[in-house]
Amino acid sequence: MTERLYYHDSYLTEFRARIMDASPDRQKIYLDRTAFYPASGGQPFDTGQLGGISVTEVVDEEDRVAHVLSRPATGEEIAGIIDWRRRFDHMQQHTGQHLLSAVLIELFNSATVSFHLGADACTIDIERPLEPNQLRQAERRANEIVFENRPVLVSFEDSSQDLGLRKPTERQGTVRIVSIQDLDRSACGGTHVRGTAEVGAILIRKLDRIRANQRIEFVCGMRAVERAQADYGALSAIARAFSSALDETPAVVLAQQEKLQESEKARRRLGNELALAKGRELHAATAPGADGLRKIQRRVGSISEELRAEAQSFTAGGQAVFLALAEDPPSVLLAASKDSGINAGEVLKAALAEAGGRGGGNQTVAQGSLPGAESMERLIGSSVLQFFGSSVPSHNK
Ligand SMILES: [Zn+2]
Repeated sequence: MTERLYYHDSYLTEFRARIMDASPDRQKIYLDRTAFYPASGGQPFDTGQLGGISVTEVVDEEDRVAHVLSRPATGEEIAGIIDWRRRFDHMQQHTGQHLLSAVLIELFNSATVSFHLGADACTIDIERPLEPNQLRQAERRANEIVFENRPVLVSFEDSSQDLGLRKPTERQGTVRIVSIQDLDRSACGGTHVRGTAEVGAILIRKLDRIRANQRIEFVCGMRAVERAQADYGALSAIARAFSSALDETPAVVLAQQEKLQESEKARRRLGNELALAKGRELHAATAPGADGLRKIQRRVGSISEELRAEAQSFTAGGQAVFLALAEDPPSVLLAASKDSGINAGEVLKAALAEAGGRGGGNQTVAQGSLPGAESMERLIGSSVLQFFGSSVPSHNK
């Protein structure tokens, strides 16, 4: 059985221990005592060194704690050093979680059902979903308790007593209890700070709906500072781009967005008008063939709204037919004037059937898509499109 030194002292970073057992390759070792916290209860494991060798994972095996090393351990006695930066960060987040969960009960009777301490952010899932303004209230209250620097104490009590816990425990016998003075008592095996001031700022970030529960993302301590720095950096960059004061940025961005939508509408309208004019001009400039029809064949990148407008404007001039072949995605547009004797929908449908494509339309305009360049070649060679003459449209974007 491994004696867990962190149960009694979360601030212990150096210790000596005896190797009691090891895997055959000696990269997994068991000690008589350890200050290394193994992953459990939502808190990740500690890292550090044992005998100068990096500890890459610490596993809770009920009675024993397994230390996974980056290379084999030697000797019988070994010195351990905990990575304090990582450990203290975990202590801040974990105590911050107890505090926040207790405040959510105190203010809104919303119980925490689970806790996850991640590499970037921490989350708790709560039973009773809250409104954003309620969470702002809870955040304020939690930080007030941080400022009061209330003692955080660890005690060992018997489960047969009325323990008055925030959340009942199923543990029997001796229970480790972490309490925040006049606020919270929780059965917990985690590492905690000794006073609430050490948690530092508690910052609530994001709310998500997870089935019947609500997930709250939060950060404490230096994570809150780093998060605020990153937020400030991002906001400042946006404010600079819009030449606005930081606090005015949201309104400025919204106004710009509206402007952009309006100008996009105007651009579409002008684009359409231009396409109609181009179609009329093209009709005037195109000489009819021997069959009396004005024919335009064109290779394009893609079939746009403007191209459709131009094609229909061209055929609206009468005795005209317009064919466009697009490469990406492979597609085709056929427009024909009512007096051309060509039914665009029927003709294109027949051509697509020969080429292995799909699509259709009405008498004056039709559109279709093709599975690839090969079927495009088949479409061009299709007998029903031969009224265009021998010429295959040349590549001309
Ligand atoms: Zn805990």
